[in-house]
Amino acid sequence: MIRAEVLVVGAGPAGIAAATAAAESGLQVIVLDDNPNAGGQIWRAATVDHNGDASSGDSARRKALDRLQRSGAQVLGGHCVFNADSSGTLQTLQETGSASVVTQFQFEHLILATGARERFLPFAGWTLPGVFGAGGLQALVRGGYNVTGKRVIVAGTGPLLLAVAAHLVEDGAIVPTVLEQASVAQLAPFTASLWAHPAKLMQGASFRRKLWKSSYRTGCWVVEAMAGSDGQSLASVRITDGSRTWTEPCDLLACGYHLVPNTEIAALLGCAFRGNFVQVDETQRTSLPNVFCAGEPCGIAGLEAALVQGEIAGLACAGLTKSSLQNKAAAENNFGAGLEVAFALRDELRSLPQPDTIVCRCEDVAFGSLSGCSSWTDAKLQTRCGMGPCQGRICGPAVEHLLGWRPVSVRQPLFPVPLGALCSPDEAIEINN
Ligand SMILES: Cc1cc2nc3c(=O)[nH]c(=O)nc-3n(C[C@H](O)[C@H](O)[C@H](O)COP(=O)(O)OP(=O)(O)OC[C@H]3O[C@@H](n4cnc5c(N)ncnc54)[C@H](O)[C@@H]3O)c2cc1C
Repeated sequence: MIRAEVLVVGAGPAGIAAATAAAESGLQVIVLDDNPNAGGQIWRAATVDHNGDASSGDSARRKALDRLQRSGAQVLGGHCVFNADSSGTLQTLQETGSASVVTQFQFEHLILATGARERFLPFAGWTLPGVFGAGGLQALVRGGYNVTGKRVIVAGTGPLLLAVAAHLVEDGAIVPTVLEQASVAQLAPFTASLWAHPAKLMQGASFRRKLWKSSYRTGCWVVEAMAGSDGQSLASVRITDGSRTWTEPCDLLACGYHLVPNTEIAALLGCAFRGNFVQVDETQRTSLPNVFCAGEPCGIAGLEAALVQGEIAGLACAGLTKSSLQNKAAAENNFGAGLEVAFALRDELRSLPQPDTIVCRCEDVAFGSLSGCSSWTDAKLQTRCGMGPCQGRICGPAVEHLLGWRPVSVRQPLFPVPLGALCSPDEAIEINN
């Protein structure tokens, strides 16, 4: 049993800011993350850059990590949280190669900073080799995957598309087009509101500069990914603007439909929700008095929101509040609300999957086999949809958009764990594989 005055789950920007603020306020802080290194999605450490050199990422990341280290907070990487209860305990699994180690933590305050993941929508051919999530391909490239000279179409929805496309171009890819499903009319109010966020406006302009050779087409989406003559890997995509359909050749497709929050731990603890997001007050406190939440689980609003919400939560654990931070958080939350409206999914995307299109990749469940089911639970029982290793993290949000079904409960273990992890929850145990 390891005890912490403040236990932070997630070492992305929100978790780093929360842990730093709490530790600098004199509290004993432990940060857990399932990745080996701190940084989360946006500050995911590049293991090699496009020249093949080791790189430690941008200066904001370095500054935040240096400050975290100086604060005295302890960061434990490789710890995947698979269980938690509101009495103040939480369990992690560490896979060490030869063994799986279960550790129990006890906390006075818990800060959930678990981020978000991409939303995927199934369409014909989306399981072909060469089709990636937009953020997924970016993560692979940061890990050393070479895209130099490859023709990559970036598609889906959300501001992440431009960030990913710019990054791919920097790494030598040819991005002929970025396809945004939202119409220009849907995007217009959001684009106009960016004048109130000059830093974001400049960031968007900088992406567009890097993408000067690429077209940015609104109101367009991919309806099919098609294999080449080998019948096995991607060679082209069929695109539509709703009235016209055409084909574009490509080596890779990077396709993601904005983000969905990682809220499973909050749901397991019984925190109240506001729609799909964890409900928090102005100090980032959830409906449970000793549990706080910061970053994407409270609303998809970007890096600045994650940082400011994290700082507020960390200070709140020490009983401190700063109204200037709360004002900044309110502005960032407004930006997040604007994103939700601007990048709302269009109805036509519901008719993308064919009856034989795989929806649940873990359990090989085709869209057609869901036709006789009435709910998420019914589909799980009848088809095993959502019952595989990802536990519905991929197909759940897709099915929610396609059929309007929502999962009814979240149960531990949140991730597949060895049986021994469930047998002895009250002490650290080692299980030899
Ligand atoms: C795939 C992807 C790529 C992105 N790329 C960009 C980009 O290029 N540019 C940009 O501006 N924004 C990007 N974003 C958005 C960006 O992540 C957010 O704007 C912001 O940085 C979120 O910070 P966060 O701390 O809330 O979450 P994150 O940075 O996602 O951090 C959450 C951390 O919690 C950990 N975690 C979650 N669940 C558990 C668990 N059960 N046990 C242990 N650890 C857990 C995760 O591993 C992760 O490290 C991306 C998002 C995604 C999903």
